[in-house]
Amino acid sequence: MAFQLSEKLKNMVPYEPISGSYDVRLDANESFLELSDDLKSELGDVLQRISLNRYPDPLAAEVCERFAAYYGVDPDLVTAGNGSDELLNIICNAFLEPGNKLLTVLPDFSMYAFYAGLSGAETVTLKKDADLQIDVDGLIETARREQVSCVMFSNPCNPTGQGLKREQVRRILKELDCLVVLDEAYMDFYTESLLDEAGDHDNLIILRTCSKAIGLAGLRLGFAVANRTLSNVLRAVKSPYNVNTVSQAFGAVVLSHREEEQKALAQILESRDALYGALSRMQEKAGCFERVYPTVTNFVLVKTDRAQEIFEKLKTRSVVVRFMGGYLRITAGSPAENKRLLDALCDILELERTVLA
Ligand SMILES: *Cc1c(COP(=O)(O)O)cnc(C)c1O
Repeated sequence: MAFQLSEKLKNMVPYEPISGSYDVRLDANESFLELSDDLKSELGDVLQRISLNRYPDPLAAEVCERFAAYYGVDPDLVTAGNGSDELLNIICNAFLEPGNKLLTVLPDFSMYAFYAGLSGAETVTLKKDADLQIDVDGLIETARREQVSCVMFSNPCNPTGQGLKREQVRRILKELDCLVVLDEAYMDFYTESLLDEAGDHDNLIILRTCSKAIGLAGLRLGFAVANRTLSNVLRAVKSPYNVNTVSQAFGAVVLSHREEEQKALAQILESRDALYGALSRMQEKAGCFERVYPTVTNFVLVKTDRAQEIFEKLKTRSVVVRFMGGYLRITAGSPAENKRLLDALCDILELERTVLA
């Protein structure tokens, strides 16, 4: 008898980010800033000191402490992951079983349903309204009606760039007794974090990442913050050496440089505001998009019937953004990258550059 793949695995394909090389990458919500030369040379010194023949610290204690100090949380409540993506996988593995249901909102980060599916759980989705806001009452009601085991959503949201207020998230936590996974990947750009009360809720896991505002997407470093019971579960079920020695050591250094990180954050926000401003003016003056959504993240979502065409034409000009059905999600780049994008958009849409000003 020949070996057969299960139904679950038969149609799976590897994740494929945009292939090929492009001058301007505005498709992955990374930071456009490289670490400073000073910081890089400090990392070089650290590299000299670490012992790569030894296994890493399974609890990644030092980097968890630096993360905790950076954000003002109790280090005992912090668990490190190989990117928050790995933590999503760990959480789904640990908390979801075949027959369980996960509730997500639509649109939101696609990996939630992906990992839930791998765990054999079913995903129930609640659509967002025309403003792409989460209907909090609808979410609570759906979670109850469907008897879900877990609710997962990002705040602020990727891909919409919209954010819920703290009070709205608290209401979800209070009204539901299932697990709530709150993905705060973009919370450095916004002000409504629940990090400082993570330990007070018995059903909350908050995820943070160093891949966006902190500018370390290549390092693969994310964190889960939850009360002791949940943190113990995460540490117990993760693979022991999930975060490598280099990521632990480099992450610890970068998270110790608050001033530099705050400066980088301000630069990203400035670029984001400039990008949003220019896109809004294009929409107002030339009506070339259906909608440019305000944002509390480092990217801007644009609604347009011509999304696919614009996406393809940008690519031929060596600029990539994220194409999502009738939308384009555009990451704030450096001033020069933003200019390349905006000039290319003007060419594609046959607009005078004056619409940008
Ligand atoms: C980018 C992103 C992540 C993944 O972050 P990593 O730490 O790089 O794995 C998680 N959630 C959301 C919503 C993201 O946009």
